[in-house]
Amino acid sequence: MLFSEAADFFSRIEATSSRLEMSAIAAELLKKCEKEEVKPLVYIMEGNVAPAHEGLDAGIGEKFAIRAIAQVSGRGEKQVEADFKKSGDLGTTAENLLKKRAQLSLASTPNSVLKVHSSFMKISRLSGAGSQEAKILLLSELLNGASPLEAKYIVRFCLGKLRLGIGDPSIIDALSMARHGDKRDREAIERAFNLCSDLGEVAQDYMAGKDLSRFSARPFSPIRPALAERLPTPKEIIARLGKCAVEAKYDGLRMQVHIKDGKVEIYSRKLEKMTHMFPEITSAASALRCNSAIFEGEALAYNQKEKRYYSFQETIQRKRKHGIEAMQRDFPLRLFAFDIMYLDGKDLTLEKYADRRKALEKLAAGSSVIVPSEQIITDSPKRLEEYFQRCISEGLEGIIAKDLSAPYIAGARKFAWIKLKKSYGEMADTVDAVIVGYYLGKGARQEFEFGGLLAAVLNDETGELETIAKIGSGFSEDEMRKLQEMLEKIRLKQKPKGLNSKLEPDFWVKPKYVITVAADEITLSPMHTCGLVGETGYALRFPRMMALRDDKSPQDITTTKEIISLFEMQKRKAAS
Ligand code: ATP
Repeated sequence: MLFSEAADFFSRIEATSSRLEMSAIAAELLKKCEKEEVKPLVYIMEGNVAPAHEGLDAGIGEKFAIRAIAQVSGRGEKQVEADFKKSGDLGTTAENLLKKRAQLSLASTPNSVLKVHSSFMKISRLSGAGSQEAKILLLSELLNGASPLEAKYIVRFCLGKLRLGIGDPSIIDALSMARHGDKRDREAIERAFNLCSDLGEVAQDYMAGKDLSRFSARPFSPIRPALAERLPTPKEIIARLGKCAVEAKYDGLRMQVHIKDGKVEIYSRKLEKMTHMFPEITSAASALRCNSAIFEGEALAYNQKEKRYYSFQETIQRKRKHGIEAMQRDFPLRLFAFDIMYLDGKDLTLEKYADRRKALEKLAAGSSVIVPSEQIITDSPKRLEEYFQRCISEGLEGIIAKDLSAPYIAGARKFAWIKLKKSYGEMADTVDAVIVGYYLGKGARQEFEFGGLLAAVLNDETGELETIAKIGSGFSEDEMRKLQEMLEKIRLKQKPKGLNSKLEPDFWVKPKYVITVAADEITLSPMHTCGLVGETGYALRFPRMMALRDDKSPQDITTTKEIISLFEMQKRKAAS
């Protein structure tokens, strides 16, 4: 398939905000392409050259892209810059200027999908001296053979700004629709994806008609993390699970550790490699007695002088301030391991939790750095409550109750894990929302431009972001300065695509940064669009920012469904 044909599909995807329509268009594209084009096309639609956990990006700086566009369009760099100033998007500038190009250069041949992907791959692998020149050359070559529309997407991709608006869930629907015209295979595709986090590979097998049940956990393919549901009281938890494991909920940094033949990799909650940042965990993992394993835990820094653990926020801050070596010496990390998904060649994800826990305890025996999470087994709400209170008094966040007979449920928030956190106001949990805009300061805050945030949650049925809070407090001066700096860089001229909002902040921003927000309660409000029924949506009352969540992406934020369920819980709690 020619890339210009794929670009026509991209342009149709970009033009719609209906998630179903996006999937239908992507399905048409997947049906039309050759089998070997499925994988690269899926990566490109995701805005990547390879699965995200490989950390490759076709990153070209704006300055260099401008040079390539100037060369190919025959205009001077000044003219490219002038058009860019007007359009605000270098992709559009490339499209505009290539439209004016008299004729395709004689030597140029049209780009195929495979050629474009392989050039993106080469660009992403180049580094070191002379690499920028080589990248410009590769980009110019692609632009030489490109139609104006195609050039728009090539340039955006290379700048890391493709943003077609289609997410993994819609691509998964598109795959099923490409083969059957409906979403019947969604679950099977999702399961395979959750186990390997490589949608390109899953898509390739699926479109070739292969059996997806072959996908299983394997070292160095990060597993999408299991997530916890919520219930408001110990009584409801025991009523749901019966006899269960109740574990301390550590407020640290979630890590997935992979080991095979002496090699160790550590992945973050977002499944990015972060092995180099944690040498002490890496060496403790390689000392474990096994050939291969995948396990998960929560890492916390321990301050020996103060005899206390640091929270996630503190751990991250220390890491930034102290550098890795000093951090390792002064605040050694301990990993509280809470699950195991693979051991010595065997996938354990379908085993019962009680059995996985036994395997985990055996594996961690003897290590002082990797230790199993603290747990009790009980069927008594009273015992659960006592344990919960003890955890809170020790400065922990709460507990997680676990179904002893459940498998490891990758990538989903299910009742196999139920969290009970110390309450914030009437709410059973904090909310993770994405910043979509910000307001200018007034009065005492005039020193800063920054005055507050507009935050949104995700409606995972429509794929739209819906506003839930205007946040004016919880920021220190330092945080305000930092937020202003970060947000200025991602300002948008218009409301972000896929956002439903009745409010208009002073500036819109690209939905990129996730924050944890605490509030007194969830109320109904005509101002916000979360879970809108008629004119009324859900809103957070007295919202305050608790933390910036570097470890979460916008796809991982609280959903509208979860807000509705938190609202129902709040009512039940008030009634009891
Ligand atoms: P939160 O915002 O409440 O920290 P989250 O959105 O990061 O939660 P949840 O699914 O709500 O994720 O809660 C589970 C999180 O709790 C896990 O991501 C993990 O990082 C952390 N955690 C701490 N202790 C444990 C434990 N013993 N077992 C499982 N997860 C634990």
